[in-house]
Amino acid sequence: MQIDLKKFFDVNPVKGFLAHDEGMVLYKYALSLSHLGVCLEIGSYCGKSAIYLGEACKATQNLLFAVDHHRGSEEHQPGETYHDLELMDRQSGQFNSFPEFQRNIELAKLNDTVIPIVASSQLVVASWNMPLALVFVDGGHSEEQAMHDCLQWARHVVADGYMLIHDIYQSEAEGGQAPRLAMNALLQSNQWDYLEKINSLVVLRKRCAT
Ligand code: SAH
Ligand code: MG
Repeated sequence: MQIDLKKFFDVNPVKGFLAHDEGMVLYKYALSLSHLGVCLEIGSYCGKSAIYLGEACKATQNLLFAVDHHRGSEEHQPGETYHDLELMDRQSGQFNSFPEFQRNIELAKLNDTVIPIVASSQLVVASWNMPLALVFVDGGHSEEQAMHDCLQWARHVVADGYMLIHDIYQSEAEGGQAPRLAMNALLQSNQWDYLEKINSLVVLRKRCAT
């Protein structure tokens, strides 16, 4: 598939944790499935992945729901490895990536495509009932959270729809294992096929009910 990169808003300056090759894979899958339903991501941070997914949704008149409480994961808190002082709300003294997310989505002209849901994944999934064509899982990386996100959101993906999981590493030396364990739990359900892995991003497709 030929993708005209020039039409993209320049995502490079957007703070985030997603490599360009991974972003292009999000874009490629999201572009192919508007007939199946809407897209949803867990873990938006400052909007990097939402811009790749959102560009594809915009091109196909689809929508992206972007779920994040914007309070950061464990590793974003003060004193932790990926803390960013610029994302602290001076008034409340709390981490808050939502203003930066909103700014980036606006700059990318994706306001009518990306629908932010500022809440925890647990709260949102508990009342979710819309079929999903694609779910991108990139939220909290504790074992409990990764497992929750993969298993709970998987139930809402339509047959032939996709789940893309970020931060899948083969060994502890490369990175945390929680997302990989959660992916394995999904694969063991026999409802998912493993399609490909690009960098640390894995693509699964839901099987048709037999
Ligand atoms: N996809 C982003 C990176 C996400 S970082 C990018 O492209 O750059 C992980 C994000 O998950 C953080 O913004 C954090 O606030 C969010 N997060 C962590 N636990 C969460 C939970 N339980 N519910 C919703 N969001 C959560
Ligand atoms: Mg990630």
